[in-house]
Amino acid sequence: MILKPDYNLVSLFDIDFKELKSQGINAVLFDLDSTVMPSKSGEYPDKVKLLLEELKQNFVVAIISNNKNKEYIEKVQAQSTFPVISHANKPSPKVMREFLRSVNVLPEAAVVVGDRPLTDILAGKLLGAKTILVDSITKDKENKPTRFVRKLERLVIRK
Ligand SMILES: [Mg+2]
Repeated sequence: MILKPDYNLVSLFDIDFKELKSQGINAVLFDLDSTVMPSKSGEYPDKVKLLLEELKQNFVVAIISNNKNKEYIEKVQAQSTFPVISHANKPSPKVMREFLRSVNVLPEAAVVVGDRPLTDILAGKLLGAKTILVDSITKDKENKPTRFVRKLERLVIRK
């Protein structure tokens, strides 16, 4: 099934980046909202910021977001030492593909990490990258309708 991610994990901190590196992965493309920071917060949780900075030692790191809010993206970019790209239009893999080309990394040497199967994971699959689905970073605080949609989306990816 095309929407099934390579890994389905609870948190960013469950990702075994050493293992990914040993599999030849050289770039990590993160989704923004609900993946590396609470949706619309514009601020990294401290330990996520640390993780991303650490990853930069071994990987090309970027955030590739469907968000179109210029001010918001600029605010996030100001806190980041790696590219934060908006208007990604996922599940189209085009923006991700262009970014990887610009840093000279092949899609098969990249991993896409996100919280949404129908945008992040599908984009990663269409790109030809590895894919990791994580739970929303604020899963426990989300309202009922949001949790319901997430549940539905995840039903699609069950084996
Ligand atoms: Mg997201």
